[in-house]
Amino acid sequence: SRKIAVLTSGGDAPGMNAAIRSVTRSAIAKGWTVMGVNQGYAGLVAGDYRELAARDVGGLLSKGGTFLGSARCPEFQKEDVREKALRNLNRSGIGALVVIGGNGSQTGGAALNDMGFPTLGVASTIDNDLVGSEITIGVDTALNIALEAIDRLRVTAASHQRGFLIEVMGRKCGYLALMAGIAGGAELVLVPEIDFEPDQIAEAIHDAYRRGKAHAMVVVAEGAKHNAEQLVRYFHDKNTGFELRATILGHVQRGGTPTAYDRLLASRLGAGAVEALDKGISGVVVGMNQGVVSTTPYSEVTGRTKGISPELYQLAHVLSR
Ligand code: ATP
Repeated sequence: SRKIAVLTSGGDAPGMNAAIRSVTRSAIAKGWTVMGVNQGYAGLVAGDYRELAARDVGGLLSKGGTFLGSARCPEFQKEDVREKALRNLNRSGIGALVVIGGNGSQTGGAALNDMGFPTLGVASTIDNDLVGSEITIGVDTALNIALEAIDRLRVTAASHQRGFLIEVMGRKCGYLALMAGIAGGAELVLVPEIDFEPDQIAEAIHDAYRRGKAHAMVVVAEGAKHNAEQLVRYFHDKNTGFELRATILGHVQRGGTPTAYDRLLASRLGAGAVEALDKGISGVVVGMNQGVVSTTPYSEVTGRTKGISPELYQLAHVLSR
């Protein structure tokens, strides 16, 4: 029989719990033992883990966050710290590790795998910046929360001829902003992938005013060249036609109840990770590509970020007329 460990790392994402549950029950179905690691790589280094039984992962599907806890553990970049984690794993008879997380977390997993310990990842981050999965666990829930906020802000904006610059998460990736912009009918979307000058944006907002818009909704990715508050300050003495306000959604986007999509994605990717291990595959990230659960080698995942689709960026622009 086999013994594996599972951890969640980096920013928490709605659906991580469903992924832990799926890894646990899929592995138990094969007769394996599963150890849940507390607080991400910090728990791995401290040897802080316990066995997860099928009942231990009940009642989790509808809960955001991660019941195992997550942590930022910068020390994990040091080889001697990772060696300590490996000694703990070996001493406990654990033969493989599943890492549920985003870019940084998969880089940590790749480093362990390079040291000879079978490790694989499950693609999970609300930013959707991870290569290896067209969509990652948590994105759909975060997007729906951003969308609800945009819808609400538009109601108040239209009543007062206001413009809102709404800052959404996504780190260096504009995916969340772009999707929220299209689905929320934003007048403008500002993403890190596309350069802009504040004056151009002021002019574009003014143009929306001249086209007879009752409101201006500008979705700003957190990684964009200028943030929402800077832009509102800059526009203070510019004529845009609208009274402008900045709203930063921040961590509100993380804590939501996972959507059906995120629960299904997490259930499938978690099971996919166990399937891969069963076939002797490690050193990969398990993701969803063209509707199929598939694996991508760490070497194609780490050190990169996913870009946004130029077609979708164009669509956001055309539909904002
Ligand atoms: P998200 O993007 O959703 O916040 P993430 O996985 O990218 O998630 P990070 O904070 O970048 O989050 O990384 C999580 C953890 O992964 C770090 O705290 C660290 O323990 C580990 N890690 C990151 N980069 C490396 C690296 N180069 N080598 C080893 N470990 C790393």
